[in-house]
Amino acid sequence: MQIFKNQNIEIYNSLSGKKETFKPITEGYVGMYVCGPTVYSNVHLGNVRTFMSFDVIYRYLLHLGYKVRYVRNITDAGHLENDADVGEDKITKKARLEAIEPMEIVQRYTVDFHNVLNTFNFLPPSIEPTATGHIIEQIELIESIIENGFAYVVNGSVYFDVHKYNEANDYGILSKRKLEDLIHNTRELDGQSDKKNPQDFALWKRAEPTHIMRWPSPWSDGFPGWHLECTAMSTKYLGDYFDIHGGGMDLKFPHHECEIAQNKAARGQDPVKYWMHANMLELNGARMSKSTGNYINPAELLSGENDIMSKAYSPSVVRFFMMQASYRSVLDLTDNGLLASEKGLNRLFDAISLLKDLPSSASSSINVSEWKQKCYDAMNDDFNTPILIATLFEGVKFINQIKDGSATITASDLEELKNTIHVFVFDILGLENTGKSETSTDKLSGAVELLIKLRQEARANKDFAMSDKIRDELAAVGIHLKDGKEGTSFSVN
Ligand SMILES: [Zn+2]
Repeated sequence: MQIFKNQNIEIYNSLSGKKETFKPITEGYVGMYVCGPTVYSNVHLGNVRTFMSFDVIYRYLLHLGYKVRYVRNITDAGHLENDADVGEDKITKKARLEAIEPMEIVQRYTVDFHNVLNTFNFLPPSIEPTATGHIIEQIELIESIIENGFAYVVNGSVYFDVHKYNEANDYGILSKRKLEDLIHNTRELDGQSDKKNPQDFALWKRAEPTHIMRWPSPWSDGFPGWHLECTAMSTKYLGDYFDIHGGGMDLKFPHHECEIAQNKAARGQDPVKYWMHANMLELNGARMSKSTGNYINPAELLSGENDIMSKAYSPSVVRFFMMQASYRSVLDLTDNGLLASEKGLNRLFDAISLLKDLPSSASSSINVSEWKQKCYDAMNDDFNTPILIATLFEGVKFINQIKDGSATITASDLEELKNTIHVFVFDILGLENTGKSETSTDKLSGAVELLIKLRQEARANKDFAMSDKIRDELAAVGIHLKDGKEGTSFSVN
């Protein structure tokens, strides 16, 4: 394994705005924190993309031999509907609407989140802490921030004093915003009168009598502000200074900016060496949004039950599609893109299945170790999966050339080619050849189409007994024929 560590990774650090050579704080170990989901609704496909980006980064670091502690939290305390820090939190709102306990909502959507991520073949993180399990740590953090003079208490709530903090620090250091601009662009909303300034954010909120999720604190029975949990949990499990903090681009401001401010206010430093942000997922060239209808959830995409895509796509096709863009680029989800990915993935798997029967020769006409290093170079360059995939397809070309006799390979080079493809396709990209996607569906349709044809012939010959027999026996195994103007179609259930 030692040799793998000689790979030199460059990471784009959102804080510095440039690629930096990755040097873990403690040699051989990596601490990585990624902001997890708020479990008040089904996981969004955009979040799947974000978590997938960090899944591949996690897989690559593990492959290189690092001992990685990967922490991804579950936001189950419910954070406020908007940044105004007023009103009802998301989890409580959903619970009241459906007349069930908030923790029932949390449980339902945590299970859904895990199921979706399992379907897409994610590795579980090392620790998955919950906000509700770390209330004491969050209260302690608030106490330090108050002690250091960066927070104030009003009516049982505690607010972070952004203006005071900005006197000796740079609020906006990560998101490249200036406090003066924020002051001009923040509207004063009703109910914010507790705050000294609209830019201040809540560390602790006193709970209204109707608020179900609440904990005792030195200031009031209430609940922590959302930004606080990540500060408390990341440093609890990874230490006061750790390697990587990741999340979606939309979390850069205010969430991650506030995390930096809270840490500096409590402990005097930003605990993160490399800040990483995964970019957005669009749908057909526009922002995904439930309200405009330009929206598809993971289950709909995989089942084909939607009006946006022409067919169902397997989790590996979706994974392969998402890996064809750098995690830092905006990715546009389209039917054509998915169809192309499905074709590409089948070509890749077809080539992999040829590997076991390839003949070896006395000499190699292709340079396998050079190609292998190109695969590493792609991942070393800020985890550039599209370049990796292009390089893997050079491997596919080798395989096909060896198969048709236009290239030769020695037995040991063949072994290296095989291992490299397996490592990058299955271990690092996390793709799975379930075999149930395209080919088996095609075979089934072929067989059913044949029976539909035989049934038409039977009917043309007025052999209705045979025609009914075909229909009924297909129905008995769950294949239902439907006669329409356009001919006979079928569905499987
Ligand atoms: Zn977070």
